[in-house]
Amino acid sequence: MTQTVDLRLTPRDAATPASVAAAAAAALHIAAARVVRADILRRSIDARQRRVMVNLKVRAHIDSVDVSADAEYAPPQWPDVTDAPSAIVVGAGPAGLFAALELIECGVRPIVLERGKDVDSRRADLVAVNRTGTVDPDSNYCFGEGGAGAYSDGKLYTRSHKRGPVEKVLRIFHAHGAQREILVDAHPHIGTDRLPGVIKAIRGTIERCGGEIRFGTRVAGLITDGQRCTGVTCADGAEVQGPVILATGHSARDVYAMLLDSGIALQPKGIAVGVRLEHPQHLIDCLQYHSPQGRGKYLPAAEYSMLTRVDGRAVYSFCMCPGGYIIPAASAPGQMVVNGMSPANRGTQWANSGMVVEILPEDIEPQPGQRPELRMMYLQQEIETTFFEAASKTQKAPAQRMTDFVAGRLSDSLPRSSYPPGLMSARVDRLLPQSVAKRLQEAFTVFDRKQRGFLSSEATVVGDETRTSAPVRIPRDADSMCHIATAGLYPCGEGAGYAGGIVSAALDGMACARALAASLL
Ligand SMILES: Cc1cc2nc3c(=O)[nH]c(=O)nc-3n(C[C@H](O)[C@H](O)[C@H](O)COP(=O)(O)OP(=O)(O)OC[C@H]3O[C@@H](n4cnc5c(N)ncnc54)[C@H](O)[C@@H]3O)c2cc1C
Repeated sequence: MTQTVDLRLTPRDAATPASVAAAAAAALHIAAARVVRADILRRSIDARQRRVMVNLKVRAHIDSVDVSADAEYAPPQWPDVTDAPSAIVVGAGPAGLFAALELIECGVRPIVLERGKDVDSRRADLVAVNRTGTVDPDSNYCFGEGGAGAYSDGKLYTRSHKRGPVEKVLRIFHAHGAQREILVDAHPHIGTDRLPGVIKAIRGTIERCGGEIRFGTRVAGLITDGQRCTGVTCADGAEVQGPVILATGHSARDVYAMLLDSGIALQPKGIAVGVRLEHPQHLIDCLQYHSPQGRGKYLPAAEYSMLTRVDGRAVYSFCMCPGGYIIPAASAPGQMVVNGMSPANRGTQWANSGMVVEILPEDIEPQPGQRPELRMMYLQQEIETTFFEAASKTQKAPAQRMTDFVAGRLSDSLPRSSYPPGLMSARVDRLLPQSVAKRLQEAFTVFDRKQRGFLSSEATVVGDETRTSAPVRIPRDADSMCHIATAGLYPCGEGAGYAGGIVSAALDGMACARALAASLL
């Protein structure tokens, strides 16, 4: 027999299986020895009060272990689709990979076309960006197997529960090697060191079932008759026939231009731009856990989430990476843009997050000669070019102490940073658009009022962060999931404007795959 109980324990007790079992027995008013196993089903940290507590939902096995309870962790089954009708998936990021798995589940054979390299070969190109600043336009932190999700933080927290089966996404990650904790934690996280293994295992499933993944295959055009898309052309001239799930992510700017050239309508979409903010992790631990000692032995590296409004626009923290690194996220030469990631143990000395300001299409005037649909993308490009020039055309990042950023002065020296190519002191507050810099300056003082000590001379503002979401939406029909004017073309994931993170991209991939399969079979 099993029974489920909610417990509220100290961090130490929550981390000790015998204490969890004993607490479950006490909550159930039975003898401690009768709880023979206690499975943690949900775990969240409550740091709102001075005394930090851990909330657990626990399944207690009473008198004997009920093995049937383990069935909920069984992975879905994927059939052999070698001889099934096929469909094209462009892009092997989370949207594309989960679309491919779902196509297989629905009985369709996916042909995945990916411009970058497999996740292992990609590593050498990341080392080149970090060490020499050389950016390969087809293989970088954004492009290659696993997409922008591969060398990301691997946070799997999403608010997109209405968009689809989040649990299924987590179970698929777990079935491919992600730690069991992702099924339990309120803020699940895989870690950049474990993600490549998980992605390779997903590739293994796709190929074992008869699907295909072609690396080094950049899609350069669509085959359409104006109303229906029937395939793609690749940069090497090859053609591939079939309905198309287009999951190319928000950094594939050449794809947006190609779509407009092919007569596919796009709409400008709001974005958020700003900086990465890096604190010593110990400082964030002290603030979040209300202790000058920091997090101690039983609590994870602390996270934070900040949000305010300044002059009618949201200013917020984004993609917070406790115990992580700042990384160079350019996807082509001539760009300078940063992002963040952290390993599974979140063990570095630094905490970073994007600190960004919302910008809406109506805030930006289309410039003469430019395509109005792409005006938000041009803004991203302009900021990235400004920072690249300021960094003397290297991947060293312009940076400023947080207090100097707010005061509007150059920093004489900079704190140590996790950013591999290194920082250079610069007036980040002047390099950013003034509407962004001023809102950030004000927001930082607001955040400091919420959490005294957050605005610190030990924290560094590192520029720039522009790739928080897609600058366009590729409009699609809500029922068929096809582009509003082009049947057979399924715009998908973050690049199409329907996702903002690994899980939501995966969910959107699955939804597009189901719609495509329904039309094909
Ligand atoms: C450093 C970093 C850290 C992040 N951390 C997190 C996190 O912790 N949690 C989270 O939820 N999100 C995180 N994100 C965001 C997350 O990675 C994205 O939201 C997600 O990957 C989007 O998935 P996608 O499949 O839609 O697009 P992408 O992941 O961008 O994948 C698109 C794929 O398409 C390929 N492609 C592009 N153009 C073509 C073409 N013409 N032909 C063929 N292939 C093409 C690309 O090479 C790429 O592999 C992070 C992003 C970065 C860069």
